[in-house]
Amino acid sequence: MAAATADVVIVGGGVMGTSIALQLARRRAGRVVLLEKRHVASGPTGRSSALLRRHYSIELYARMAARSFEAYRNFEELTGRPAEITRCGLVMALAPDDVPAMRDTIAMMQRLGVKVEELTPRDLARVVPGLSVDGLGGAAWETDTGYGDPAGVSQAYAARARELGVEIRQDCHVLGFTVTGGRISGVRTSAGPVETATVVNAAGPWGAALSRAVGVDLPIVASRQQLVILRPRADATAPRPVLVDMVDRAYYRPETGGLVLVGTRNRAGVSAPVDPDAFSERVDADRGGGGASLPRVRRRGGGGRLRLGLRSHPRPALRHRAQPDAPRARPRPGVQRARVQALAGHRRDGRGAGGRRPRVGGRRRAVLI
Ligand SMILES: Cc1cc2nc3c(=O)[nH]c(=O)nc-3n(C[C@H](O)[C@H](O)[C@H](O)COP(=O)(O)OP(=O)(O)OC[C@H]3O[C@@H](n4cnc5c(N)ncnc54)[C@H](O)[C@@H]3O)c2cc1C
Repeated sequence: MAAATADVVIVGGGVMGTSIALQLARRRAGRVVLLEKRHVASGPTGRSSALLRRHYSIELYARMAARSFEAYRNFEELTGRPAEITRCGLVMALAPDDVPAMRDTIAMMQRLGVKVEELTPRDLARVVPGLSVDGLGGAAWETDTGYGDPAGVSQAYAARARELGVEIRQDCHVLGFTVTGGRISGVRTSAGPVETATVVNAAGPWGAALSRAVGVDLPIVASRQQLVILRPRADATAPRPVLVDMVDRAYYRPETGGLVLVGTRNRAGVSAPVDPDAFSERVDADRGGGGASLPRVRRRGGGGRLRLGLRSHPRPALRHRAQPDAPRARPRPGVQRARVQALAGHRRDGRGAGGRRPRVGGRRRAVLI
């Protein structure tokens, strides 16, 4: 029977919410209930490209990524389930002007114990067969990483948390909160109320709206990022290791079924803010909406630097399946989709993405994690 009271209520069943649920259960935090409006990993987590990279020039981020990587290294011990990780390595390729800074980053990562080495363009062509190194000055090669299965990771966290006593309620929408004397005293949900004094907001791109309901202003914006899934020509080489191309602002990752996942970013890395419940899932073939690198990927032969051989499928290959001008969509090399991501960046001074500190109203408190 579903609990009507809890010591801690977690809102959101993405990788963050399920991981927090497991960690609270391991620390015997009392009765923990996780509420998810759809199903575990139904949000951006399930659409993540799930690259397991530790290459960040800001040391704080590199440390956080290296620490997270440990969770995957010890995944079986943590969850009792095998980690679905493809350790094909990950290469971050940069322009010639960025090579000196890359060397500093490599040295910093090595101090943190990360297995990473520098590649010259000639080495790069050897490590990533079929790659055009034109315009690249070098790369950092993380040899022991790759990419994960984001839905599988979240399901494993949820399953282990459940075994340790957490109640995971799916199809349960948190509609608002009850506040008594300036403090949270419960949550209102589509399946009835739950009394609690502690709520963890792990609602991803919906998190800002949720917190606003209790007067807490979090610097979270939802941003749209685009990726295309392509079928390479039979004689083309699928990428191995994962390639992050910082010059064309695209990344390439093997996808099941012999497909290739190509993710793209514009120069800023983010689109204009979008509504996470109503964003376009059509891939833009132009320079708008965060898809600035798609034209470059297309120019290089539809498959980017890896020459995946999509030259015979020009523009329509970059259109979405639901596009009304379907007659032009010849046999398709792949499918495309866009996804939405929540960004809550912080600067070194602790302020948020927009340079604002989270405003915490009255005596209500929230912790930004
Ligand atoms: C293995 C792995 C590797 C990754 N690698 C990278 C990387 O290299 N770079 C990078 O930038 N990101 C990476 N990510 C992060 C990823 O892209 C997403 O940003 C992340 O998974 C978001 O997780 P989340 O739990 O914060 O949010 P979400 O996945 O958005 O989960 C939030 C959940 O809350 C639920 N919810 C919202 N509102 C309510 C409500 N009112 N009531 C009930 N439920 C609600 C939603 O349905 C959703 O399921 C990686 C993730 C994984 C798992």
